[in-house]
Amino acid sequence: MIWKTIEKPKQGWAVVPNLLDYDQVRAEFSWQAARRELDGLPSGGGLNIAYEAVDRHAAGALSEHLALRWLGKRGEIRDFTYADLRALTDRFANVLKRLGLDAGERVFMLTGRIPELYISALGTLKNRNVFCPLFSAFGPEPIRQRISIGDGRVLVTTVTLYQRKIAELRSALPGLKHVLLIGTPDELRAIPDTKDFHQLMEQADNRFDIPPTDPEDLALLHFTSGTTGKPKGAMHVHQAVVAHHMTGRYALDFHPGDIFWCTADPGWVTGTSYGIIAPLTHGITSIIDEAEFDAERWYGLLEQQKVTIWYTAPTAVRMMMKVGTEVIRKFDLSNLRFIASVGEPLNPEAVVWGQEAFGLPIHDNWWQTETGGIMIANYAAMEIRPGSMGRPLPGIDAAIVRQRKDGTVEVVDAPEVEGELALRPGWPSMFRGYLNEDARYRKCFADGWYLTGDLAKRDRDGFYWFVGRIDDVIKSAGHLIGPFEVESTLMEHRAVAEAGVIGKPDPTAGEVVKAFVALKPGFAASEDLRLDLLGFARRRLGVAVAPREIDFVANVPKTRSGKIMRRLLKARELGLPEGDTSTLESD
Ligand code: ATP
Ligand code: MG
Repeated sequence: MIWKTIEKPKQGWAVVPNLLDYDQVRAEFSWQAARRELDGLPSGGGLNIAYEAVDRHAAGALSEHLALRWLGKRGEIRDFTYADLRALTDRFANVLKRLGLDAGERVFMLTGRIPELYISALGTLKNRNVFCPLFSAFGPEPIRQRISIGDGRVLVTTVTLYQRKIAELRSALPGLKHVLLIGTPDELRAIPDTKDFHQLMEQADNRFDIPPTDPEDLALLHFTSGTTGKPKGAMHVHQAVVAHHMTGRYALDFHPGDIFWCTADPGWVTGTSYGIIAPLTHGITSIIDEAEFDAERWYGLLEQQKVTIWYTAPTAVRMMMKVGTEVIRKFDLSNLRFIASVGEPLNPEAVVWGQEAFGLPIHDNWWQTETGGIMIANYAAMEIRPGSMGRPLPGIDAAIVRQRKDGTVEVVDAPEVEGELALRPGWPSMFRGYLNEDARYRKCFADGWYLTGDLAKRDRDGFYWFVGRIDDVIKSAGHLIGPFEVESTLMEHRAVAEAGVIGKPDPTAGEVVKAFVALKPGFAASEDLRLDLLGFARRRLGVAVAPREIDFVANVPKTRSGKIMRRLLKARELGLPEGDTSTLESD
């Protein structure tokens, strides 16, 4: 199916988008100028993420402006102004200083989305320690591995998570010197070898002077999602904040007074770059929701909190599509101005569904843990070609390339030709290495390009289209087939809620396409439906690309950040070992 371009008005905007003239902004853009939009530490002390996010606003007109509004699972609300956040993050920086942490030592965080997480993240950066958030749903072994690879010195967690997951690991983590627990004094009394987070905070001074910070000092350690294999620890530095700020402006269209909700958990890079840092650097208000996905509650939140900009993920969009548009009509979402999505390909169906459901299309954007910030995006003022990731951000040079046998790289200039998506290194939030995996890091670069591991193509007008991860691409009878194209087509069928597609080895074709399909409520698996789906896909995709086999499944396996784990579908299909499943979402 060819999807119609979604046009945007040329003028008459209620809020004028930041990126009105793409070509002009790109032509005039420089990272030096972007850096000058930030303040830098006083008296030439360098650049520190937390200063740009908090202190510079707390010292100025935004001091009493709402920085974070936290919505608890049980309906609690806690508000933090920029001044509040400054005092609390100063306290936490003092806690770390008192514990004797040196610059560069790592602070791990294992909690749900609670205020202490945000305070710890920014306080850690102030003391020039490296912040490493872990997803609270990880089991003990993934936690042990990450703290041990990352040489964690401090862990902040809750009493419950400690008792359930960490206590048994303590002896296996000799480098972990301090565990700071969040809980009531009663709960804490019974637990040896730990410290009381809140007591330390109370005892600490609420003023902290951020020491000089080199823009190249390590700031963040993020583990990748583990979609294609064992997660890698990507290291980021303080000047990443220049990219967080710039992309907040152009890709997410932040304006003063905006109320922003990023639904990602800080356990993943999106939840830190955009769930913590970028909106704060713009002095706007962020909503933090402690609870998990629930369509009605989410719409209620958008209405009550008057959210203007919403950043979510395809997996959430698909869940909303499953529930349908009817329920949305009960809510007043008139404050909402811009919706964006990241993490996986956003099916064209979903972009268009946004338009129908919210009166706003969903703007797909693309980036990776490694890139630290959004690299390719659909913009508020620019037309959307459903299924396209959009165009590179100002300051980002992208290309479609092919690596030759001798390791050199050929740039594919022609439009509509598939190849590996590559980026010219040099933007501030580019990762500086994979922790303890230098060879793996070096393999990402060739001939002056960073190779992303994703296949894509570019159309005549410079829009990029995601084809698939190189690891997932199916080679069938001489065709290269991206699973996304097949999955998106299956999603157009009224019975399909989700689909995962793999290549299954075949003696004649090399591989044949096999699809795993989860059905929408109200549809039952049957032979008739299978045949209907096979025919439906064949008519739209042609016999060469359409699935040869379809299995019905209750759920498609996904990472905790919501990405379809095709490698797991494949391993299960072929009866092979499942590999690293530390990030697998449990049903
Ligand atoms: P791992 O590297 O451990 O296998 P991962 O690549 O899923 O995991 P992340 O860094 O969280 O880890 O995800 C980045 C990847 O997600 C991209 O390389 C791309 O494959 C996919 N992705 C992100 N956004 C998009 C998008 N808008 N469209 C298509 N794919 C996307
Ligand atoms: Mg990756």
